[in-house]
Amino acid sequence: MSLPSEKNLSALLDERRTFPPAEEFRRRANWNDPAIYDRAAKDPEGFWAEEAKHLDWFAPWQKVLEWDAPWAKWFVGAKLNVTYNCVDRHAHSARRNKAAIVWEGEPGDSRVLTFDMLEREVNRFANTLKSLGVVKGDRIAIYMGMVPELAIAMLACAKIGAAHSVVFGGFSAEALRERINDAKAKVLITADGSWRRGNVVPLKASADEALTETPSIEKVVVLKRIGKAVQISMKPGRDLWWHDLVANASDECAAEPMDAEDMLFILYTSGTTGKPKGIVHTTAGYLVGASTTHRYVFDIKEDDVYWCTADIGWVTGHTYIVYGPLANGATVLMYEGTPDVPDRGRFWAIVDKYGVNILYTAPTAIRTFMRWGKEWPAKYKLSSLRLIGTVGEPINPEAWMWYHETIGHQRCPIVDTWWQTETGCAMISPLPGITATKPGSATRPLPGIAAEVVDAEGKPVGPGGGGYLVLSKPWPAMLRTIYGDPERYVQNYWSRYPGKYFTGDGCKIDADGYLWLLGRVDDVMNVAGHRISTFEVESAMVDHASVAEAAVIGKTHEVKGQAISAFVTLKEGVHASDALKEELKQHVVMKIGAIAKPDDIFFTSELPKTRSAKIMRRLLRDIAEGRVLGDTTTLADSTVLAKLKEQYKDEG
Ligand code: ATP
Ligand code: MG
Repeated sequence: MSLPSEKNLSALLDERRTFPPAEEFRRRANWNDPAIYDRAAKDPEGFWAEEAKHLDWFAPWQKVLEWDAPWAKWFVGAKLNVTYNCVDRHAHSARRNKAAIVWEGEPGDSRVLTFDMLEREVNRFANTLKSLGVVKGDRIAIYMGMVPELAIAMLACAKIGAAHSVVFGGFSAEALRERINDAKAKVLITADGSWRRGNVVPLKASADEALTETPSIEKVVVLKRIGKAVQISMKPGRDLWWHDLVANASDECAAEPMDAEDMLFILYTSGTTGKPKGIVHTTAGYLVGASTTHRYVFDIKEDDVYWCTADIGWVTGHTYIVYGPLANGATVLMYEGTPDVPDRGRFWAIVDKYGVNILYTAPTAIRTFMRWGKEWPAKYKLSSLRLIGTVGEPINPEAWMWYHETIGHQRCPIVDTWWQTETGCAMISPLPGITATKPGSATRPLPGIAAEVVDAEGKPVGPGGGGYLVLSKPWPAMLRTIYGDPERYVQNYWSRYPGKYFTGDGCKIDADGYLWLLGRVDDVMNVAGHRISTFEVESAMVDHASVAEAAVIGKTHEVKGQAISAFVTLKEGVHASDALKEELKQHVVMKIGAIAKPDDIFFTSELPKTRSAKIMRRLLRDIAEGRVLGDTTTLADSTVLAKLKEQYKDEG
């Protein structure tokens, strides 16, 4: 494993553009006093305890933190219920008739659930689960599309103290089976199918296939989302219809008082770097982290319509569609479909239709929009937007500027939020009323979070340096373990630097102390003794007017150690040619220097991505090195990889 060091090329660190918050925004922001950083740094436990007061507790904690590295307990001894905090308390307040979930289905379908309605739906389903024999501590697998019942199912589990394990509805039967068995889930909640681009995704059929070898599953609850357009079979005694069950269930259900450290959910990581890990989150710390960061990073206001475009199958959807916003009593938009149905203006049509104020999406989506062209967003007003955010990968400065101008109309602060399934909530991000942003930098750790960039020996690197990102103090929403594998938890995150959490990401610090995430440390190349980050070379390529997206890898080279290979997708209407390859190489030389010049460039119409849409460079490395492919269970589309492999054989 190599890491960037002081002598590195620093294309990113040359970024000089800064964007301070507009005065009007600053004045009204939920947090606008920079002193918060110092206050939180001096007394992080006091800081978190203060924020925890926004929640309702059934019993207070005796101690904020018990830290026996790497084992953490937060809000020790406290009792609370997550669903009570996300739903019930709002349903019994002035927010009773406020929209909690605004759901936009595939074209033609929509639904609004107020907090009051949501409470009753959750209670009915919570009672249903109880009637199926579910008790506190059981694990429940959920395999659904983006329908309100997905959130209802999660909240129902949390209400009665069962831990959910949501499996992304785009996953295969095999991926579902692995996750069910790892968690030993007792019940599976699924649907007859889900809609995607007007086609049926046969969820129940995949579930049936998964369930041939899942001894722990006793019952399967099936939501009728599709109806006649899909053929399914129901296994007598095992499979039950959602609507039949809830029809007889009471809409009253007391919230189970949970211990602060009781498990809330298991969620498997995306598998970008290897086999997915079952990340365990607990009740109190997670909810404090989720709600606090949602309140301040997104500057949520009572009247806002807030839209996070992630799928609930990923941690972003857990924390910033369900738990964070609902704990704050916010109105959340939930969208079932894709950005290109019925046309490529779909996201912008939704923003205008509902007057979305806050939009949170991913760099990969932004690069796709760039590829489709400005004419799509230009058809819409987008005047309701006041804050926009990104998560999932480092954002190329060029994509940041496009987002800022084309979507944010130069008016909306951008929050580039760095975090992981493991961290539970955003860790590094601007505070929109305080931070002057720079395109491509997630800026600095949030108040109460201690992050450092260290070298191989664990020594912090200074401004201008680069190395590994570590989190040097525990935080409330941190993972507690890997489900069923505490040793892997210790090994994976806590063994490299004792007492510090190893993120696995490379990072640089600039002269102002801003952090520049570089992606996985495994993705840093070593070319003739120079550490070069794949992300920086990719950003230089994306900076070229013809390029939509690029994935760069280091390929073994006899002389240089590694040579740079680039896989490039072009913008609409641009034709691939050898001349263009040469031009792109020169563009990288101009942006970074001769040392970063790619040896070869492959044009491709698609890049291999996880189903959460992150570029899987490790598979590209396997192709380039002619190796057997690593774990591909979370790959979005296997035909992309097969095509690339062929092409690489021919041209490479
Ligand atoms: P696995 O751990 O199984 O390889 P994964 O790391 O892709 O999967 P996630 O937890 O979904 O699974 O992703 C977290 C990672 O996403 C981070 O470690 C980081 O590499 C990347 N990431 C997320 N947000 C940002 C961001 N704003 N800037 C840079 N990188 C980001
Ligand atoms: Mg990871």
